[in-house]
Amino acid sequence: MAQFWKPGTEKPRLLDDGEGGVLFFSSSYSSSSSGFGFSSTEKQRQRLPVYKYRTAILYLVETHATTIIVGETGSGKTTQIPQFLKEAGWADGGRVIACTQPRRLAVQAVASRVAEEMGVKLGEEVGYTIRFEDLTNPDVTRVKFLTDGVLLREMMDDPLLTKYSVIMVDEAHERSISTDMLLGLLKKIQRRRPDLRLIISSATIEAKSMSTFFQMSKRRRGLEGETLEPKVEPAILSVEGRGFNVQIFYLEEPVSDYVQSAVSTVLSIHEQEPPGDILVFLTGQDDIDAAVQLLIEEGQNDRKKSELIVLPLYSGLSRAEQDLIFSPTPRGKRKVVISTNIAETSLTLEGIVYVIDSGFSKQRFYNPITDIESLIVAPISKASARQRTGRAGRIRPGKCYRLYTEEYFINEMPAEGIPEMQRSNLVTCVIQLKALGIDNILGFDWPSPPSPEVMVRALEVLYSLGVLDDDAKLTSPIGFQVAEIPLEPMISKMILASGELGCSEEIMTIAAVLSIQSIWASSRGAQKELDEARLRFAAAEGDHVTFLNVYKGFLQSNKSSQWCHKNFINYQAMKKVMEVREQLRRIAQRLGIIMKSCERDTTAIRKAVTAGFFANACQIEAYSHNGMYKTVRGSQEVYIHPSSVLFRVNPKWVVYHSLVSTDRQYMRNVVTIDPGWLTEVAPHFYQQRQLSHMPH
Ligand code: ADP
Ligand code: MG
Repeated sequence: MAQFWKPGTEKPRLLDDGEGGVLFFSSSYSSSSSGFGFSSTEKQRQRLPVYKYRTAILYLVETHATTIIVGETGSGKTTQIPQFLKEAGWADGGRVIACTQPRRLAVQAVASRVAEEMGVKLGEEVGYTIRFEDLTNPDVTRVKFLTDGVLLREMMDDPLLTKYSVIMVDEAHERSISTDMLLGLLKKIQRRRPDLRLIISSATIEAKSMSTFFQMSKRRRGLEGETLEPKVEPAILSVEGRGFNVQIFYLEEPVSDYVQSAVSTVLSIHEQEPPGDILVFLTGQDDIDAAVQLLIEEGQNDRKKSELIVLPLYSGLSRAEQDLIFSPTPRGKRKVVISTNIAETSLTLEGIVYVIDSGFSKQRFYNPITDIESLIVAPISKASARQRTGRAGRIRPGKCYRLYTEEYFINEMPAEGIPEMQRSNLVTCVIQLKALGIDNILGFDWPSPPSPEVMVRALEVLYSLGVLDDDAKLTSPIGFQVAEIPLEPMISKMILASGELGCSEEIMTIAAVLSIQSIWASSRGAQKELDEARLRFAAAEGDHVTFLNVYKGFLQSNKSSQWCHKNFINYQAMKKVMEVREQLRRIAQRLGIIMKSCERDTTAIRKAVTAGFFANACQIEAYSHNGMYKTVRGSQEVYIHPSSVLFRVNPKWVVYHSLVSTDRQYMRNVVTIDPGWLTEVAPHFYQQRQLSHMPH
């Protein structure tokens, strides 16, 4: 057993950087273990860079309230540190070690890896919780992986998170909204719980600014030395990586179609370069599925190209699909993983030697003036580009092909990304803080404060949803109920309204479908067939009602995967819809919502949708020949997305679920409404006067 520091024994060697208590450890001590008697996973663990810092990490966590750990992707932070803590006794006495991740898929993947390393069954000693999926056993789970969003929800029932001894907020550099909220809230909890330890870990971070954020108040600092409390100054530990050199190639001329360009780069690597797997960074399910399809087609009649094992990687993949990604590449084959930015730092894939970087990712942007939030394929930052490049140097020197010019990289790419907190709609964030009893939202202690306009907008929307009252307090029961449902407030409101409108069975299905990326199968190369399949289910009232037809068909087929295949429906997605729907039913039951079917009275259904999504109402432009709509609130130009059943149908009035932005703002998931409903369901939001001068 490797040694680790115990209180009362000689401390490991520290280097003080002379700047106010910030500690760096020298990495000069090595693991002297011969490896004798260890299983091969144990040896693998010992080869990871963090292993050398085991004693140092445990010492810092013991003696500091907050420890910041910076280390290159793949150095073992996520999989090893929770195990070190467990071995050192932090989970004794029924306590639990938590490790949060921004992404659901990362939670599942690292939890199953850690369970495997520890030789235990996933869901027992090691478990995970993501929204709508809880694989833990409160009696035995000691190491728990969860999304930061789930941990925020746990605070609603247990505001001080009393069952946790150590909370490791991982991937902090991603700066997701939930991570930032969590950091702000944990800082508060720390004042009340000196026994709690925080670890903030990330691949790249301005460790100093994070450290400044976690400095505690003077008052507490005075106690130091007299009590057994940990130091309040955060410690910083930097884990030295061991990445190999990666040679970078740029395009000489920019390309317009990065999917095509990525595909041809894969093929020429395969033709010209020695063995080694390829990791391609694209932006989302659509372009990833497209690239996978193109590569599979290439391999169909070509022996050399058929050596490629092409795998997509994005959230929502089944466990079986995830396993393929992590399983070793068979001899004579070359794996090509086509991924969103999840493989940038959250997941480590062994065997990658070549990286292809499109230079883009899908990002959320929000404009508080127009109140429009959309997902945009936007340029990544230099910091992200460097991370992507680093993925090629894990096992030996690698190569990175950037699908943009060097000039572009140097002159146009922003140095750092903007925290999600500062480019998102904060409706969900505000309601969560309110539910946690934080009344002064504007004065909350954020790592990077959002703009007051965005906060005010969120308060306004919540007020119009009936979730907040005149004093900006949660209303009872609606506000508390909406906060209780783990979905965006607009969907939650829609669910509550459905109880009164007598269509909760239908709305539950719609809510479940909306919480899934897409229920349709990938269309690349078969757009016509997909469109035809969609027409079979299409309802004149729009996408939401169409979902009900698909769901009904799926049930009538006895949930058959063949039926899904025949109809261009994603079987995995439908299985997920069933699961989510079941969970929502349970929540609804708890909230006292009466489950009732409206037997296809689509007016009730559309009214319920409007009760949640009235802020997304749009009217077609009177003389528009190209299907241009304007949002009622902000007069913004929007169009129906080609994937909607209402594309080219262009009804007069619609509400949409979300916007995606490419060359235009496109509404995804659209349903027809009667404009009269707007003043009925949201009188504060739409005053009569506002609508009256619009032609009906
Ligand atoms: P970090 O969090 O520092 O990026 P991780 O703890 O995620 O590093 O990974 C450490 C190492 O564990 C990786 O380099 C890889 O070798 C191995 N590993 C992690 N997850 C898996 C997995 N799902 N399958 C196989 N190996 C894995
Ligand atoms: Mg990690």
